[in-house]
This record gives sequence, C-alpha cells and structure tokens, in this order.
Amino acid sequence: MQNTKTSPHIKPENINITEISAAHHPQYMGHEKIYKIHAPKQNITAFVGIHNTALGPALGGIRFKYYEDENAALTDVLRLSEAMTWKNAAGGLDHGGGKSVIMAPSVNLRRPTDEILAIFAQGLNIVNNSQPVYFGAEDMNMDETSMNKLLKTTKWIKGGTAPSPEIVGGTPSPLTAIGVFECMKIAARHKLGKENLEGVRVSMQGLGNVGSALAQYLHEQGAILTGCDVFDSAFEDLRTKDVQIVRVSLDEIYDAPTDIFAPNAIGSTLTDTNIARLKTAGVQIVCGAANNQQQDQSGGHQSRLMHDLGILYCPDYIVNAGGVIWVAKVGQDAKTVTQDIRTGVPRRFEEILKIYESASDQDMASIAARYARQRVEAAQSQNSQNTGTETHNMIGA
Ligand code: NAD
Repeated sequence: MQNTKTSPHIKPENINITEISAAHHPQYMGHEKIYKIHAPKQNITAFVGIHNTALGPALGGIRFKYYEDENAALTDVLRLSEAMTWKNAAGGLDHGGGKSVIMAPSVNLRRPTDEILAIFAQGLNIVNNSQPVYFGAEDMNMDETSMNKLLKTTKWIKGGTAPSPEIVGGTPSPLTAIGVFECMKIAARHKLGKENLEGVRVSMQGLGNVGSALAQYLHEQGAILTGCDVFDSAFEDLRTKDVQIVRVSLDEIYDAPTDIFAPNAIGSTLTDTNIARLKTAGVQIVCGAANNQQQDQSGGHQSRLMHDLGILYCPDYIVNAGGVIWVAKVGQDAKTVTQDIRTGVPRRFEEILKIYESASDQDMASIAARYARQRVEAAQSQNSQNTGTETHNMIGA
C-alpha cells in the first residue's frame, strides 16, 4: 500500500531564509515583508511576497515557473502579491495579499518535484514561525496533488483534497469560471442590452482550467465561441464535451470578429496595440480570468484607453475572485460557498459598474482600485486604533 505520509525530509537548518529589502524595486509598492527561501544543496530558490496584512494573514497562490534570473522572479512575486491585496479585499475576505514563486530549475520541468515541494513547505514553516503571515494555494503549474504534497510538511496551505464533495477543498478553477461567467452576463446586459449570452460572440484566449470551464458554460448558454491555446489538447478536450469553438492562432485572436474578449491565459496581453486590434474586431467588453491583464497594471493606462474607446473593461481581480474565495473557505459547506460565489462576485462587479455608469469620466480599474483600497485603509485605521499606534500608509502609491 502506498504510504501517503512519506515526503522527502528536508531539515529546516538546511534552508536559508533571508528577509529582503526591495524598497528601490519599481514593483515594491509598500510591501510589508519579502522573503527569499534558498536551499543551497539543491540550489532551489523561492520568493514569498507579503504585500499587506491589514485584513488578516496574506493568502495567495504559489507559482512554479522558469525565470531567467532572480530579479525576474522577484518582479513577478511583487506584482502578484500586490494584486492579491486588492483581490482579497474586494472579495470581502479577511485576508491580506501575498504570493510566492518557486524558480523552476529548468524550462522543461512543468511540475515541481517532491523534493522542491518539501523545500518550499519547510520554508513556509519558517516564514510563519513566530506568527501566521501567509497561506499558500494553487497557482500556475501547481495542482491539487501539489497542495496535498505540501500539506505533508506544512499546515500553511489551503486547497488540498476535500474529505468529501460537500466540503470546500481541491482545485478552485471551476469556481473562478462561475464568477467570470456571471459577471460576463451582467456586462452583456449593461453594454449589449442582452438578457443572456445566446448568440453573443466571445473570443477566448486560453482554454486551460478556467478557460475550458468557462467555454462550457458559454456554450450551454448559446454563445458563439472562437478561441486559441498553445495546446491542441485544449480543443480535443472541448470536443469530447461537445463544446463548439472555432480555433484561431495565438495572434489571430485579437482580430477575430467578436463582442466579448475573454483573456484566460497569461497576464499583460492588454497592450495598447492589442486593444486597438480588439476594437477593430468589434469588441465591446473585455471580461476574463487572467491575472494582471493590463500591461500597465499598476498605472491602469490600458483601462483608461478602453474607457476612451468605449470598451467595457471588467477588472480582473473583481471578476476572477471566485477561486480565492473558494480557497479561503476550505472546510466549509461547498453548496453555500458556491452560492456565495455565484451571487457575491457579480454583485460586487455590478456595484463597481453602477459607479462607472454614474461617473462619466472614471475608468473601471480606478473605480475597482478605490473600492478595494477603502476596505484595506479602514482595516489599517482600525488596527492602529487597537494598538494605539499611528496609521502608516503601508500601501504603495
Ligand atoms: P492554466 O494553466 O490551466 O490555463 C492557461 C491556458 O492558457 C493553458 O491552456 C495554456 O496553454 C494557455 N496559454 C498560455 N499562453 C497562451 C497564449 N499566449 N495564448 C493563448 N493561450 C495561452 O491556467 P488557469 O488556472 O486556467 O488560469 C488561467 C488564468 O487565470 C491565469 O492568468 C491565472 O493566473 C488566472 N486565474 C486563475 C484562477 C484559478 O482558479 N485557476 C483564479 C484567478 C485567476
């Protein structure tokens, strides 16, 4: 019988944890703590970024990815952990923003080995040693199995397999897709005057965990789908589920005639050039799950551009919050949490949309940022009153 308790044993003394000062890094944005985890013998490096814990211990995914150098990994973790502060705050969670990246030792290694996971898990134990500051969860190239393996060494993980389907646990992707789908319906009602998505054209960039689930919901509603993905298997999977979708190349997706563009792959695909192409292709709404969709995510330049061009941008961390809400509620009743996501994510999106529609010269990302920031600032002010300290602006400009 397989011994599920066995995992490579990594002694804490064989791991170096350094707290890094990155105040001069362009993506620093007032991070509270940044840790570097390094195992010299195996030459494995990871970074944990903790942007803000005013609302509670940080929660955010663990990404396993090949980076050219440490600065590229650090830049990614800082961008991602800041975004988690806003996503968790806007999603109504009592969690701050954090994220981690593990540097894959080779471009060809798709999933972390058991040894890499054990090193990272031991690192998390040390990071959380004196007080809980960060919970990790699933992100790129990690899955439910990886979470189960991490849980053998550390308790600072959310999203291992649930003991039964009635209990929240396991992969969050289907819940992310539900939230995006519900927001897309609201966007279509406001922008296209459609009560549902029947006959609406949607172009889909990326058909992985979230994209394929979203494609299924859209197909069931009668939407007309065009899509692209790196892998043929993404289309084969959809074919087995009878989902009809016209395939275009990775580059052609920006020119495919459509009403809604749904980015569900990588970040930064909303560049000025791509937005101009989307506009020419007829796009009226951008709504998808990918994190950090705008090339200038922190400055919000592309959100402004879409506003000027009459494209309704559905801010990524508002519409894709279903996954992190699911993960934050591990162990709770699955039916209740699913319903909370199905109604709560679109409700928050609609609140932002209503502000947008009543204020003619504000773009969607700025309104979303203000919405999330208010909750963090209120918590900071409350925390400082409780401790009798002055309020510091821990949030980057
Ligand atoms: P995934 O890795 O399962 O799927 C991504 C898909 O995009 C893959 O099939 C990949 O082949 C494809 N792809 C990669 N580069 C592409 C390109 N240039 N053009 C078109 N397709 C490309 O990831 P996922 O879990 O489905 O997540 C998708 C996005 O949503 C990511 O940005 C992720 O950070 C974000 N997100 C995911 C969740 C979640 O619950 N999984 C939650 C919030 C946000």
